[in-house]
Amino acid sequence: MLPPEVALARGRWVKWIAGASNQDLAAIEDLAGLYALAGAHCLDVAADGAVVAAARRGISWAEAHGAARPWLMVSLSDGHDPHFRKAWFDPRRCPPSCPRPCERVCPALAIGERATGAPGVLAERCYGCGRCLPACPLGLIEERSLVLAPDAVAPLLAALRPEAVELHTSPGRQQAFERRLDQLLASALPLRRVAVSASAEVPVAELWQRFDSLRARGLRPLWQLDGRPMSGDVGDGTARAAVALLARRRQAMPPGPLQLAGGTNGRSLPLLEATPALARACAGVAFGGVARRLLQPLLLQTQSRGVALRHDPELLRQALELARSLLRPWLERT
Ligand code: SF4
Ligand code: SF4
Repeated sequence: MLPPEVALARGRWVKWIAGASNQDLAAIEDLAGLYALAGAHCLDVAADGAVVAAARRGISWAEAHGAARPWLMVSLSDGHDPHFRKAWFDPRRCPPSCPRPCERVCPALAIGERATGAPGVLAERCYGCGRCLPACPLGLIEERSLVLAPDAVAPLLAALRPEAVELHTSPGRQQAFERRLDQLLASALPLRRVAVSASAEVPVAELWQRFDSLRARGLRPLWQLDGRPMSGDVGDGTARAAVALLARRRQAMPPGPLQLAGGTNGRSLPLLEATPALARACAGVAFGGVARRLLQPLLLQTQSRGVALRHDPELLRQALELARSLLRPWLERT
């Protein structure tokens, strides 16, 4: 595997995203191990002690099987953000006759008796995609925001010791962004990169402000173009949004590698390479929902038997093949 910085420079960087509010420890441990062994340069997980410990156990397993050590990145936001929320409802209010559309739309199998044995939202599995919110005909599902308190950031990061941080930002939050950067610095961690996750709603002029703030603090950006957040598992068509965002922005962006995210899947690379100038501008990709969906059937099989996917030789072989099929085209780009 190319070292992460070299991969960024050559357009071959691949990041696996667990989900900024995903706390499904058994799945995270398995998926972190599998995607590290498949060649991911970076694993991006929630800023949570138990989640980071699970990801590190997965990484140790992958290293023991010959993988290079990827960076561990944790995700933060500078204010309310859909990536940092959980769905919640009180199942006692649901009519018994409800056909449970909320359960059907949840990609994380976080709702319902069938998947979890509990009728409400299983908070550890929920990663805040929001698909269940409009699905309830009675409007019973609410979102609960998970934004870290300012004085919690530095001690948490000092305890987690990630190599990199992702900072989600939204329009009009320059000052909040700067305050988060100061909290990162207060942790005294030698961060390799600060990935700035911004959707199309954040104007490029604001991204230049974020860049000035990072540079003034000696931090190195990685620009994550969040085309269609948390949707890569929905279908091939979601890949278009991140590539289109790169096409619109690449010439106006501040310095730093440009990485696709949000809606990325197996269609992302062919779409990108249809325009050589775009392909040259792209440092790499992050896979979230599609990476989980690919391995979910195998995870469910082993979880129902109470064993880790990594410890079932036949399913492990299948899982690795699938993970490599997603990452390989990017790892071998020329
Ligand atoms: S649909 Fe999304 S927001 Fe709703 S419970 Fe499932 S993961 Fe959470
Ligand atoms: S759709 Fe609404 S009423 Fe029906 S089970 Fe889900 S939360 Fe309850």
